[in-house]
Amino acid sequence: MEIVRPADRGYAALQHVYSSTGRPGSVLLPRTTAEVVEALSTVRDTGRPFAVRSGGHGISSIATNTGGDVIDLRGIASVEHRGGRAVRLGPGARWGAVARSLAPHGLAISSGDSGDVGVGGLATTGGIGLMGRAHGLTIDRLRSAELVTADGTVHRVSDHESPDLFWAIRGAGANFGIVTAFDFEASDVADVVQTTAVYQPVDLAAFLSAWGRTVETAARAVSAFLYLGAGPTPFAQATIVYAGDDVDAATPEIERFLRLPGLAGQRAVVTPYASVPLTSGAPHTGQQRASTHTGLAVHLDDDLADRIATLLRSPGTDMVQIRSVGGAINDVDPSATAYAHRHQNFSVTAVSVRGGAAFHDAWEPVHRRMDGMYLSFESDHALSAVAEAFPPATLARLRDLKARWDPEGLFDQNFDVTGSPSGEALRAVR
Ligand SMILES: Cc1cc2nc3c(=O)[nH]c(=O)nc-3n(C[C@H](O)[C@H](O)[C@H](O)COP(=O)(O)OP(=O)(O)OC[C@H]3O[C@@H](n4cnc5c(N)ncnc54)[C@H](O)[C@@H]3O)c2cc1C
Repeated sequence: MEIVRPADRGYAALQHVYSSTGRPGSVLLPRTTAEVVEALSTVRDTGRPFAVRSGGHGISSIATNTGGDVIDLRGIASVEHRGGRAVRLGPGARWGAVARSLAPHGLAISSGDSGDVGVGGLATTGGIGLMGRAHGLTIDRLRSAELVTADGTVHRVSDHESPDLFWAIRGAGANFGIVTAFDFEASDVADVVQTTAVYQPVDLAAFLSAWGRTVETAARAVSAFLYLGAGPTPFAQATIVYAGDDVDAATPEIERFLRLPGLAGQRAVVTPYASVPLTSGAPHTGQQRASTHTGLAVHLDDDLADRIATLLRSPGTDMVQIRSVGGAINDVDPSATAYAHRHQNFSVTAVSVRGGAAFHDAWEPVHRRMDGMYLSFESDHALSAVAEAFPPATLARLRDLKARWDPEGLFDQNFDVTGSPSGEALRAVR
């Protein structure tokens, strides 16, 4: 297995991630599951902090460090069409590459809005994508996976093999090991109707509640993400995807969004789904250091819309992103996966480049109206995040499984379900 250290060639391209710079003592580059087992044993022996990295695009956790080790899975990045709708993905593949590889087969997996995001981080947490209302979360299409647990054993997990672990990795995967292969059932999707619309609403709160009603009453073929820039004259850019190429059916659905107040421009195209996730391929230099807060909401009612509008006018907030969930995502029983939020319609995320107290304070009124959380959009590792992300029954089950599969708290880097950043709580209990 290749191990790259600070004095080695190529180290500079491996040390940082998208949201953070780092200077790890070594970057281990396994190319097979057996090498992941070896890598885990190696980092365990050093006793230093370590990180697991797939695409390096994590917001919720930092897939690099200073002075520790990194297990970087970029060498396990295959996208394998196994016949029919069956697709096997390596954790190090990026979702843009996945979409491009599946397109010739008339297949797609709803992932997220960025093609640079890695399979491993997104598919162990949820996957809120631009076909989510039509085809569910990314994890809802996962049929089995291969997982290396803390003791170094390799498990095939599915509804029939280690079903508890299969349940746990669909929402809290980082707590239970390193996923080395994902087996998905892709959806039959080739072309979609993608609309980009820009709005300059005079009354932002009124626009937001109208946006909310439009999304909730749209056909479930429609998923819609809204990106709002902060400042005295707010603007909004929307990406609206109709999951299919039936233009006659899509047109009235899109027109409803074009009737919203403040429309300043729009463009609708029939395009392969593969062109939807935006892909830059830029090397990681810690270029996107930002503080984020996030939560889920059932409705964008007038009160919540008003609070979001106030947040956007407050100093320290640079952007708010509102992604649709609902539809097929909410068809799934809340107890079926560790991601248990199956009644909300929106994910709301605030982004601040500077962070700090003013941003945290400005978020608080919106936070009070949130109903659950999707961990992948939260940058603050406050202990309360785990309790917001997992309802009590889910968290209790996760803690039982954590005690069984990771009793020493080896995987404590990414929102440790024991409630302690260092796994201390679990160790104390035992
Ligand atoms: C620009 C941008 C846009 C985004 N848009 C969306 C979106 O639309 N929808 C959405 O759902 N999410 C979105 N995200 C969030 C994204 O899903 C998470 O940040 C995700 O964790 C990134 O995955 P990665 O593999 O690139 O991350 P990494 O930084 O490599 O990993 C993040 C963490 O995940 C865990 N992890 C990674 N690989 C594995 C593995 N194989 N096994 C177990 N644990 C693992 C580790 O704890 C790791 O520290 C976006 C993120 C960015 C930066």
